[in-house]
Amino acid sequence: MNAQNPTLALPGQPHVAYVNDQLMVESVRLSDLAREHGTPLFVYSKAAMLSALAAYQRGFVGRNAQICYAMKANSTLAVLQVFAEAGCGFDTVSGGELARVLAAGADPAKVIFSGVGKTRAEMKQALQVGIGCFNVESEAELDVLSDVAVGMGLKAPVSLRVNPNVDAKTHPYISTGLKGNKFGIAHEDALRSYRHAASLPGLQVVGIDCHIGSQITEATPYLDAMDRVLDLVADIEAAGIPIEHIDFGGGLGINYNGDTPPEADALWAQLLAKLDARGYGQRKIMIEPGRSLVGNAGVCLTEVLYLKPGEQKNFCIVDAAMNDLPRPAMYQAFHQIVPVQPRLANVGAADRVYDIVGPVCESGDWIGRDRALQVQAGDTLAVLSAGAYCMSMASNYNTRGRAAEILVDGHHAHLIRQRESAFDTFALEQLV
Ligand SMILES: *Cc1c(COP(=O)(O)O)cnc(C)c1O
Repeated sequence: MNAQNPTLALPGQPHVAYVNDQLMVESVRLSDLAREHGTPLFVYSKAAMLSALAAYQRGFVGRNAQICYAMKANSTLAVLQVFAEAGCGFDTVSGGELARVLAAGADPAKVIFSGVGKTRAEMKQALQVGIGCFNVESEAELDVLSDVAVGMGLKAPVSLRVNPNVDAKTHPYISTGLKGNKFGIAHEDALRSYRHAASLPGLQVVGIDCHIGSQITEATPYLDAMDRVLDLVADIEAAGIPIEHIDFGGGLGINYNGDTPPEADALWAQLLAKLDARGYGQRKIMIEPGRSLVGNAGVCLTEVLYLKPGEQKNFCIVDAAMNDLPRPAMYQAFHQIVPVQPRLANVGAADRVYDIVGPVCESGDWIGRDRALQVQAGDTLAVLSAGAYCMSMASNYNTRGRAAEILVDGHHAHLIRQRESAFDTFALEQLV
């Protein structure tokens, strides 16, 4: 950030950088966006999304593979459109997500439907549009799905989500591949469940899937899960039930705070070597990445409202809150927080350590703790790595309208979601 070095890249944020002391997303100045659209404001880089996707695509060159973006990470229509236009399929977890992704132009044949609690209405909706596969999570669900499909004169394509019982070594709330959580069918029950699925009139077994957790930063859990799943494939096929595709789920982590997850292409080079070694190299592969495609493609801009120095803590009160950025409150998650226009030393603001908190009436409403910052009221801060599990988890708590969203593409900044007004938040309610 000086004359000799006008561009300063931020670690893990491929398309976010300071250029002449101005934080930019691609070629757009964030201070301009904050002025024009107000805060809190989410800003995404299309190039960052496409380069994250390209790492997976490089990994799968020459393979029969389908990437299904797990859209719960960020389900804004224009974000889905970017991935649909790049050829992605989608992993959905509700009828709402299915309707949303079709509205964004997805090919239903490339959409899969995951989740432990699909309703009959959702199953019917998915069968009507012709989705590619149901990822079923229990024997009871197999029975209901078969019943719904028979009622429609159809056969539902199914994969069973198996629980490989490996420890993804991540936060307990986002670890899903261990015994004792609600997801998937236990490894030892899988063969029985496949036999049951194959016997039901409304089902067509097409695959097997697993998803062991989220924000995984090591290759080992994936390699272990692959071994466990391939053992099952061998057993299931020996029982006369062919498995067309193997879906290894999502979960690859991103760099939030010096985390060093493997690159997608390097991870898949290792995994594909194992697949080849075990004789499954020709099989159709599917994956369901979410966070790793969008997490580091977005920032959330927020304005400093007040500085509140205290005896034990200094608070920096900003206009974004837990309803906009729920991850710290939910998982004690870390987001880097940086100034959009850094103050040069000795001009006013003192360098202090702050807890960055929002206006919501909860002590859990914090965005960052113990951060050294040089700020004044009126400054704009950027909360980094805010592309995944932020806007898609945002709420209206405290009757706060949800933030606006911008998609940057080179020099262009597209408004892809308007800021919600207070009126919008109660528009569907009625007085008695
Ligand atoms: C959430 C989820 C994903 C995506 O997880 P990421 O950690 O965002 O990659 C993939 N598959 C299933 C079934 C999920 O529930």
